[in-house]
Amino acid sequence: MSIEDITFSCASAEFIVKLSATALKQIIDECIKAGRNETGGILIGSYSKDGSTALLVEATARPDDSLAGRTTFQRGINGLQPLLDSRWKVGRYYVGEWHFHPGGSPEPSRDDLESMRLISQAPNYQCQEPIMIILGGYPPVSYKLSGSVFPRGKIPVRLN
Ligand SMILES: [Zn+2]
Repeated sequence: MSIEDITFSCASAEFIVKLSATALKQIIDECIKAGRNETGGILIGSYSKDGSTALLVEATARPDDSLAGRTTFQRGINGLQPLLDSRWKVGRYYVGEWHFHPGGSPEPSRDDLESMRLISQAPNYQCQEPIMIILGGYPPVSYKLSGSVFPRGKIPVRLN
């Protein structure tokens, strides 16, 4: 599969998420490194002026204090704050989470939904509409992606 920019959108186009080829490559490389374990990190980017479009320009590596198993992943925090501080200076910030379902579907699990709901409400994230990208399958050969937005206090929106 060649790696290109991917646009996710919902039917009403209320939310549009553009995953840059660079960020997708970072995700795929991290998934390959993780092998048969889940892995993940945060998404860094910016929003269009009207707020409808999120541009995901960077997907970080797994923080080294993350807990990862075959079907579980709890992202750690080591190193993220200094990284976000430096990105802030160039107008980029935390916009959500990505993670890997090795050999599985990109469908969010119940735990995934719950953790994103909590992030949308957490004051320290300052992100009212966090985005979740999940890669499922066997990268780099065959894989699928899902994208969802979690507006604070509302039902999650699945993107296509
Ligand atoms: Zn998951």
